[in-house]
Amino acid sequence: MLGERGEDAKILSGGQSLIPLLKLRFASPAVVVDINRIAGLDTLAEEDGGLRIGALVRTKTCELSELLRDRYPILSQAAAQISDPIIRNLGTVCGSVAHADPQGDWGSALMAAGAEAVARGPGGERTLPLSDFFQGPFTTTLEPTEVVTEIRVPGPGERSGGAYLKLERRVGDFATAAVGVQVSFEAGKIARAGIGLTGVGATNLRATEAEQALVGAELDEEAIQGAAELAAQAADPQSDTRGSAEYKRHVVRVFTERALRASAGKANG
Ligand SMILES: Cc1cc2nc3c(=O)[nH]c(=O)nc-3n(C[C@H](O)[C@H](O)[C@H](O)COP(=O)(O)OP(=O)(O)OC[C@H]3O[C@@H](n4cnc5c(N)ncnc54)[C@H](O)[C@@H]3O)c2cc1C
Repeated sequence: MLGERGEDAKILSGGQSLIPLLKLRFASPAVVVDINRIAGLDTLAEEDGGLRIGALVRTKTCELSELLRDRYPILSQAAAQISDPIIRNLGTVCGSVAHADPQGDWGSALMAAGAEAVARGPGGERTLPLSDFFQGPFTTTLEPTEVVTEIRVPGPGERSGGAYLKLERRVGDFATAAVGVQVSFEAGKIARAGIGLTGVGATNLRATEAEQALVGAELDEEAIQGAAELAAQAADPQSDTRGSAEYKRHVVRVFTERALRASAGKANG
């Protein structure tokens, strides 16, 4: 159906973004393709050392998952802070990523964790790293004929930590600003660092320079403050009803520091 209709068909998974868009007439596809009855798309499990999140895994399932709480706390914390229980009950991780709202929490948390999307279409299957998946507001590298069948997250390694910190005006709101951090250590030094930013740019952003500054360093106060400054510089916020650009940049700096400290604490047990 997607192959036949292209841009004129839209996938429906949780419907928590698509249905509001239809109601407001921002989208008027001729055909809605409901994938909810397709079997085998609800896997949330570790396999071959990494995590698989199938297209029909709901945000609520991630919030309640002990596996995510123990092994992928950045994802568990992001899930718990997305909107309200009704949205979390239906909204899917893959739907949120495909929707590519710059205010979306999943995109930044998963980017920090080094995730990739698996997309399937008439031409076969492709793997798309999330680091260059988001092209602009509500725009991705997905073809209109492709379905995201799952998200894959690399295993965090033996000594690792992560956190997702979100500032919202009230419970259930989109982020004023949010920061996701994931770090892995080898022999006391940072082997991999991922930092994702929400609500402070035209897409979910990766603070690449801050990540690079951390690799090979010990996670001491100097490294934490240096990375937080670089993350604040990577943010490109707009002033709006949620706060001024300056305020949001400050929140990114402070949350990056806090998330790095929390990550170090987790990695050290
Ligand atoms: C009141 C409210 C508050 C919200 N607050 C937050 C918040 O705080 N943080 C946050 O991150 N989000 C928030 N959201 C958004 C919501 O969490 C997600 O955007 C939503 O759940 C997307 O997932 P879905 O499964 O519902 O996607 P749908 O609404 O079904 O689809 C969204 C879009 O993605 C496409 N799509 C869906 N699944 C796939 C797929 N597998 N492959 C390819 N394309 C696909 C659809 O065609 C559509 O264009 C909020 C939404 C509402 C209504």
